[in-house]
Amino acid sequence: MRKTLWIVAVLLVAALVWNRAPQPVPKIPPGTALPQASAPAGLRFALIKTADAKTLQAFTYAGGSPFKTAGINHIAVLVEHPQGRFLFDTGLGTEVEKQFATIPFWARPFLAFDNLHPAVGQLTAAKVAAPDRIILSHAHWDHASALGDFPDAKVWVTPAEKRFIDSGHPPTVLPTQFQFPAERWHLYELSSGPYAGFDRSLDLFGDGSAVLLPLPGHTPGSVGLLLSVPSGQRYFFVGDLAWNSAGITGPHRKFSLASKIVDLDAETNWQVLLQVRGLLDANPGLHVVPAHDTATHDAIGYFPNWVQ
Ligand SMILES: [Zn+2]
Repeated sequence: MRKTLWIVAVLLVAALVWNRAPQPVPKIPPGTALPQASAPAGLRFALIKTADAKTLQAFTYAGGSPFKTAGINHIAVLVEHPQGRFLFDTGLGTEVEKQFATIPFWARPFLAFDNLHPAVGQLTAAKVAAPDRIILSHAHWDHASALGDFPDAKVWVTPAEKRFIDSGHPPTVLPTQFQFPAERWHLYELSSGPYAGFDRSLDLFGDGSAVLLPLPGHTPGSVGLLLSVPSGQRYFFVGDLAWNSAGITGPHRKFSLASKIVDLDAETNWQVLLQVRGLLDANPGLHVVPAHDTATHDAIGYFPNWVQ
């Protein structure tokens, strides 16, 4: 165990030095204007903050400072549409301590969390009904931790992500989180055609207000959720495409050592990130929301506050 810790420490220091090395200027593809969406009255969303943590800014993106801290959030996004309610990711759930114990010891210090408030408890306290479906941005443990807290909810993943889950292992995928009856799975295709430069999409309610878009790389079946609310504001929840808004606006890759562990295909993730940056350039009012970026979430606010 001691030898492993030394290896991790040496790798970490080397990676932190490498993290500050200048990177080649990336080529950002031009984005297109987002198609019109008609968000119905009553559509709203809330960020449910289930836990948080502090880390070094250097650990969140290449070029980040090793002397500044950055907030890490674990959120679930509750979306209410007149035609249905769903969670986009679950955040950390009531069983997370048990789940966390199955992560290899060397990875735990980097994944530690604080201030646990699982979504199910927050919804119950606010007398808000549980959603009947959960759409995962991807299947990593910190996004799927609370699947067991909503046993009646269907679990939406793409076939590519399901295959990834079936072959997954700690520290990124915890198979115990997916041991539920087979009828809970809902495998879907991004079958609504091209959308804003993406080759595929899924328009969840047929009105353009909630559209799933492919963001492969971090995992094979990662998706983002583009949500339009009645005020006209548009939010793009991009999962772990980047851990920090600076990753998109920079643009910057992730911290290299962490990317090696968590990004299944870091180069594809980077190309998709550049595509999202191009989309942001073409739509400057778009709010791009990484799943773990506390500063971005703080600016939006948290459940029981709603955005509409
Ligand atoms: Zn992830």
